[in-house]
Amino acid sequence: MHETLNTTSVGSFPKPERLLEARRQRRQGRISEEDLQAEERLATVDVIRLQEDLGLDILVHGEMERGDMVAYFAERWTGFEESLPVRSYGNRYYRKPIVVGPVGPAPELLGVGAYRAAQALTDRPVKGMLTGPYTCCDWSFNAHYADRRALVLDLAAIIHEEAKALDEAGCQYIQIDEPALSTRPDELPLAIEAMEIVTAGIRARTISHICYGDFDKIYPDLLQLPVRQLDLEAQNRGFELLDLLARHPWPADKELALGVVDVHRHRIETVEEVERGILQALQIVPAELLYIDPDCGMKTRTWEEARQKLTVMMEAVARVREAVGLL
Ligand SMILES: [Zn+2]
Repeated sequence: MHETLNTTSVGSFPKPERLLEARRQRRQGRISEEDLQAEERLATVDVIRLQEDLGLDILVHGEMERGDMVAYFAERWTGFEESLPVRSYGNRYYRKPIVVGPVGPAPELLGVGAYRAAQALTDRPVKGMLTGPYTCCDWSFNAHYADRRALVLDLAAIIHEEAKALDEAGCQYIQIDEPALSTRPDELPLAIEAMEIVTAGIRARTISHICYGDFDKIYPDLLQLPVRQLDLEAQNRGFELLDLLARHPWPADKELALGVVDVHRHRIETVEEVERGILQALQIVPAELLYIDPDCGMKTRTWEEARQKLTVMMEAVARVREAVGLL
């Protein structure tokens, strides 16, 4: 770990073809759940090794066990059913969950096992990864609750138990993703209320990743989200986000994780453009509060693209560190 400008990843990594094939075979009942999990573990080892080789400070497990970040949980919690496939991004389809009854936890916790398995592979801290209650509600059809608030608050109670288990397992960084948060600015107070439930009493550093954003509609109110670190995408709009952040003083009790490589484009960024973005961010956020990562999860990239983008990111951080004299 460095004292400043720590590097990390947002969450997902590309799944290897043999894992995708194992998942197909599992759906057809040709292999067991244990066989599938063995493939997921192999892929997790590669994700951890890649991040270690590139020198990242805080690692992710890569989410090999998850397809969609909401459906993974909804398929296991009670109160949900699956819809027919709906379109998510580009030509990707997924089964949108439908809430058909009161939501409740799965028979076993969903986040802590993946965290423990990945943390056992490395001495560097691994993040615990959860999806936030607001996004779980927003990316589901609600056919049961009278209003969205009731559903969001019930989901918050379930996710709080997941966060508590990660905290008790010694996880130092717990990320509760709320990518949907910027889509309805009028519901930001509800997302904040729900996040208070999720993070209550958690000792680990809490993080929330938010993307696809119309950030100008929710900023600076977004700073009220009760997490230690906000993780925001910046590269895919040419670091325009920084102009918005510069209009308000950055609070001393918040950390910013800045996305510096675009996860939705094949083009590999140049070290120079990433370096410029980081230097611009340092004008706004002090180096000890600034983390550097990609814009979002990398599951839509190829393994080689992910490796190249992270390599550029790490080179840019090294150059900035040297230029500004950071530890
Ligand atoms: Zn994202």
